[in-house]
Amino acid sequence: MRAFRYESLPGRVVFGEGSAETVAEEISGQRVLVLATPRGLPLARRIAEPLGDRVVGEFTEVREHVPVAVALHARSRARELRADCLLAVGGGSTVGTAKAISLELRLPIVAVPTTYAGSEMTPVWGMTSSEGKQTGRSLDVLPSVVIYDPALTASLPRALTVTSAMNAMAHSVEGVYAAGANPISSLMAAESVRALAAGLADSSAESLLYGAYLAGAVFAVTGSGLHHKICHVLGGAYDLPHAATHSVVLPHVAEYMDGPALAPIAAALNASTAASGLRELAHRVDAPTSLASLGFPPAKLAEAAALVAAQSPVPEPDIHALLAAAL
Ligand code: NAD
Repeated sequence: MRAFRYESLPGRVVFGEGSAETVAEEISGQRVLVLATPRGLPLARRIAEPLGDRVVGEFTEVREHVPVAVALHARSRARELRADCLLAVGGGSTVGTAKAISLELRLPIVAVPTTYAGSEMTPVWGMTSSEGKQTGRSLDVLPSVVIYDPALTASLPRALTVTSAMNAMAHSVEGVYAAGANPISSLMAAESVRALAAGLADSSAESLLYGAYLAGAVFAVTGSGLHHKICHVLGGAYDLPHAATHSVVLPHVAEYMDGPALAPIAAALNASTAASGLRELAHRVDAPTSLASLGFPPAKLAEAAALVAAQSPVPEPDIHALLAAAL
């Protein structure tokens, strides 16, 4: 066996139908700030109800990619309320807003995810300003407790279920060849891909959420590579939807990266290669397969390839060809 490093991250996971009802048992804080989108607020209130007057306030100004202005406002609200814990109920944008608070105030986060984005398992934070998206790693933003209740993701519309699950799949696929890949995370990645594919086939929120949890855990230890770099640039520079962009780009990157590292992914998909398995899956579940259909302007192809190449060791002509195929 080759040498490797594996650093397990701290955190408690509670998984199962109905587990969101146990939130009061999982929170030791006495001044809880609840974070949710305006649409997710009724659900968040229902989940937080058993906390009674331990809830000191709500923050609903959640935006995708956490604009710096939102982060500053969220922090001052947490300070004003003298919050000692954050309860984030929602997708990656809501969890990301809680992380932006904790990056400075170091408050414990209890996350109750309602999508398959996986941010709740990672110590990665992100914020956007006019200069683009800034990201970093800090254990201060890693949620201390994550409560996975499949009943909460059952309300996702099918199209969002598909793209969010493909976004999770991307964490696991990338996890087998990223710089931090190791045999332990690769085991989790293969299991995650199996669970996500099975969950998409039989619409099982439980399988999907289990797969998404593992995918987030993989991403947290392996870091990212070419796929996330491309999606990061496309999302930031051309305002493409996050999860759908992952869905389109993934089979193309898997094809480019094809090699022994991707064999466990191919096996998990029962396919000869990871790329063919992902392509067949995308087709079967009606996932978006073209960047043009997401609103990417074809005339910007060369510009986008140059932007990605500036941040990646992959040669620009290869990126251009990959993006052209994804177009
Ligand atoms: P999101 O949180 O913006 O949610 C997407 C949409 O789904 C929103 O309109 C939301 O209101 C809706 N929604 C959420 N849960 C729902 C439910 N159960 N039923 C119906 N609608 C629901 O997006 P996301 O895809 O969850 O997360 C994407 C964001 O997370 C991006 O900003 C991405 O950069 C970030 N992210 C960060 C990490 C990390 O490790 N830091 C990892 C993955 C994603």
